[in-house]
Amino acid sequence: MAEKEIYNAEEMLEEIFLYMNQLVNEREFSKVVALLTDLGRVLAHAERASFWYWDQKEKQYWTLAAVGSDKITVPEGSGIIDASIQNKETIVINDPYEDDRFNPEVDKQTGYVTKSILCMPVMNAKGKVIGAYQAINKLDANGEAGTFDERDKKRLTLAAVYGGKTLESHLLDNEIRIDPLTGLTNRRGFYEYYDEWQQEGDKDQPTSLIMCDIDFFKKVNDTYGHNAGDAVLQTVAGILQQNVTSADEAVRWGGEEFILALPGKDRDQARLLAEHIRESVERTQIDFEQWNIRITMSFGVYQMDAEQSMDVNVKQADERLYQAKTTGRNRVIV
Ligand code: GH3
Ligand code: MG
Ligand code: MG
Repeated sequence: MAEKEIYNAEEMLEEIFLYMNQLVNEREFSKVVALLTDLGRVLAHAERASFWYWDQKEKQYWTLAAVGSDKITVPEGSGIIDASIQNKETIVINDPYEDDRFNPEVDKQTGYVTKSILCMPVMNAKGKVIGAYQAINKLDANGEAGTFDERDKKRLTLAAVYGGKTLESHLLDNEIRIDPLTGLTNRRGFYEYYDEWQQEGDKDQPTSLIMCDIDFFKKVNDTYGHNAGDAVLQTVAGILQQNVTSADEAVRWGGEEFILALPGKDRDQARLLAEHIRESVERTQIDFEQWNIRITMSFGVYQMDAEQSMDVNVKQADERLYQAKTTGRNRVIV
């Protein structure tokens, strides 16, 4: 690393303001995290730094941003990140190969030699740990291997606290656009998606909507109970998600009504996809408790008009869905 260690307050402020200037102009979460990660690295004068997210659902930690290495995922239960997060403590290790919390396998995998580690938990506003911030290989004034001390801890806190706030607001922002039962984008999220598409999407290529609704879903609830109904909704959401790409958006529009937005697909391609999904749903048996539930779905397909509002486009798809319902259900109308 070319930069020298910062000793005086003037230089330190200079450095912080440099990063803050970039941070205020950056809207993209991944770039904000990358900037904060690098800020921590510079302030602590370390070779590498990484910002870790604790994915409690998957019981693992993964790097949101790492300066100097690729994205890594590690399971809960071992390593420094785990120790720091689970025990809610800042860990300083200046002789990792003598410390049994350190897992030398990591170095074998990355081909890197860890000489010192500074790792601290990152909290949300309620004081709950949501991740960790790690700096690796302290450099001394000459750029040689050094040791982390109290001052580095203090300095890294600046980036860790700011990083925690950023991560928390990002998580909350995601949460309000996602339907908790199915994990699909909710209606609010779809409005955001539509605005973005209208502003930034490629208007030269067609984009289509598929709107679909489970047939006689009320009967599923009445016959097997509300929990069975929920399981059916989750299965349907899974089928929809399997059939879209990362550019598409799968939305739970309302109760048992879904929308797929498909950039790059014209009405014929969208019809083929709807037909394919219709068949998968029809074929799928949903096992819930002692029951094997089968359902069908009806589909309306509409190639969007980018000049029009989302409501107008959705209404067009909805009218076709309504036709599918009134002409016998379990069918696709374009
Ligand atoms: P159609 O074929 O005409 O669409 O008939 P349907 O019975 O599917 O439609 P209807 O609109 O009469 O009933 C929808 C039902 O969906 C009623 C509502 O209780 C149920 N529902 C909505 N949201 C949920 C949910 O989150 N979980 C469960 N289990 N049921 C839900
Ligand atoms: Mg229905
Ligand atoms: Mg409905």
